Amino acid sequence: MAGVSARSEKCLRSVDTELGDVVRRALQAAPAWLDFAVVSGLRTTEEQQALFRKGRDVNGTITDRRKIVTWKDGVIKKSRHQSGKAVDIVAYVDGVIDWSEKPNLAVAAYVIGFAAAHGVKLVGGVKWKWDYGHVELETS
Ligand SMILES: [Zn+2]
Repeated sequence: MAGVSARSEKCLRSVDTELGDVVRRALQAAPAWLDFAVVSGLRTTEEQQALFRKGRDVNGTITDRRKIVTWKDGVIKKSRHQSGKAVDIVAYVDGVIDWSEKPNLAVAAYVIGFAAAHGVKLVGGVKWKWDYGHVELETS
């Protein structure tokens, strides 16, 4: 999985150039033991709404908390994915996607640190204590 996969590249091309470029460079520069991919970039309102419906009924009431993937409904509360200012990354452990906390915290810390060293300020989901693979441009 080393390097930039086609899926990662598609996600990176869909977002803000500064964000896409720095995450691509981070991927290319990552040590072999820290493998990851980009699995989400720009989202349409419909895509965000579809994600919001996971774990909720038609009224938006939570029916299965384990299935919740976002708190942004896409209309009243917009995700920064909708403006191309965020990407979701996920760790690969032994060549297999791993959504658990530990490897994703390590990957996010690496990407945020790499970006900072290259003059791009990113904030990760770790700041709101979940969604560890989410990385977005800091709002100024
Ligand atoms: Zn995200």
